[in-house]
Amino acid sequence: MSTKEEKILQTYFGYETFRPGQMETINHILQMNNTLAVMPTGGGKSLCYQIPGLSLNGTAIIISPLISLMKDQVDALQSLGISATYINSSLSSAEQQTRLQDISAGRYKFVYVAPERFDSGYFINVVKRIKLSLVAFDEAHCISQWGHDFRPSYRSIVPNLQKLNNIPVFVALTATATEEVISDIQQLLHINHVINTGFERENLSFHVVKGKDKATYVRSFIDEHKEESGIIYTATRKQADSLFDQLTRRGVNVAKYHAGLSEQERKEVQSAFIHDEKSIMVATNAFGMGIDKSNVRYVIHYAMPMNIESYYQEAGRAGRDGEHSDCILLFSPQDTQLQKFLIEQSLMEEGAKQGEYRKLQAMINYCHTHGCLTTFILDYFNDSVEKKACGRCSNCVERQEKSEITEEAQMILSCIKRMGERFGVGMTAKVLKGSKDKKIKDFRLDKISTYGILSAYTEKELTEWIHFLIAEQLISTEESRFPTLKLNQNSVEVLKGKRQVWMYTTPLPIGEEADYQ
Ligand code: ADP
Repeated sequence: MSTKEEKILQTYFGYETFRPGQMETINHILQMNNTLAVMPTGGGKSLCYQIPGLSLNGTAIIISPLISLMKDQVDALQSLGISATYINSSLSSAEQQTRLQDISAGRYKFVYVAPERFDSGYFINVVKRIKLSLVAFDEAHCISQWGHDFRPSYRSIVPNLQKLNNIPVFVALTATATEEVISDIQQLLHINHVINTGFERENLSFHVVKGKDKATYVRSFIDEHKEESGIIYTATRKQADSLFDQLTRRGVNVAKYHAGLSEQERKEVQSAFIHDEKSIMVATNAFGMGIDKSNVRYVIHYAMPMNIESYYQEAGRAGRDGEHSDCILLFSPQDTQLQKFLIEQSLMEEGAKQGEYRKLQAMINYCHTHGCLTTFILDYFNDSVEKKACGRCSNCVERQEKSEITEEAQMILSCIKRMGERFGVGMTAKVLKGSKDKKIKDFRLDKISTYGILSAYTEKELTEWIHFLIAEQLISTEESRFPTLKLNQNSVEVLKGKRQVWMYTTPLPIGEEADYQ
């Protein structure tokens, strides 16, 4: 026998069964427990508040930072015969007025608003007077300063909301949340119930590609995936412009999107992409928040993004329809320099910068790990769901011979020790190689016993090994622009021979000179 909520799922939405976490979230809300739902993109978060909104009396207010998505959500609900509206700055003030009157009269089951709405006393007065069913915070990570997309306007409305004493229950929803973010959201909104389904999206295959010419890679990838829809994220507008020009010259049906275009242009290209008139979008990270296009078959990152939160969210725009899709990150050492430069240039305080460096280091480690990429991401988010190697990512699929490098690792670690744990990857690789670089002489590093101890290898190989050891947490790094290498408990175990080090022999980077610091 189906419950009332299952009937709503079937009759209004036409789906037979709930997805993982939906039923639990809905039940908590119906029991008036403030609830946070953490579910992957495409996991079906909207239904988690839409079904209680339909089941309970009164109007549901949904606060969303995504103006572009509000209209889509409202259109979708209206097409199912559900009364819904939105209010945001895109409407004329006369239109806003009319909608507010209808809200006052209790004509809507769902009202979508941007957070800024709660800065208006008039709006608050309207909300105060009506019967509410619930208040939902979509993209709730924006509320947290630990989140990758913190929006102060989102956080600042919470005290105003808490003054309203007619809100029966708060619902928060997000696809990306580390423990810090989850507990921040919980504290702010007084949430005791968290439904966390884990982040794994089984239809996505992650790949890291190193040492290839990026433009050539993209061209041949596109040739092999004609007709498919994809997004290519670049790190800068300039990179987006140049890649767009290159692909256009080759006759590829491509669009571009970045903050340097006019609003009108952006609207047009977005719509062309969504409606499959353009199959590929070359864009900066300005593109995507709120893009609900289900058939994106691949997301290529032309350069490494600044942290795993952004990466997972951007890459996660692939495969919302549940079909197999690829997420490819093209890595080159220069990407690290660019991201460090951006952190340095930002107006953040020192403490916040350190946090960004820590997140960047995790992103770099992702590019150098030899373990399963899916597991790496899930571990980063402290995903508590039990996991095994995914068998889909480039590390799982392209694994070659495993070879033991314990002795070499010991040499690298003792070199770090002898250098006084005061230098970064680049200098350490030079010392191991026995480089004649002037800096080495200046610091008298050519006098230490590990100078030139691994001279049989290239500096590039040594650099790659050190990054691998960092990714495996056998070496620690400091959170700064030029992170110095430090030994840790794991390094001591390797040095004492209590722990072996194995690495997969993957092709080494070719092409660009390593210039890690
Ligand atoms: P999210 O906000 O978590 O990214 P959405 O709420 O947009 O995801 O849902 C993604 C897609 O999955 C939508 O097309 C939605 O209609 C569909 N969906 C949601 N719940 C179910 C369900 N129980 N059964 C089948 N499809 C569902």
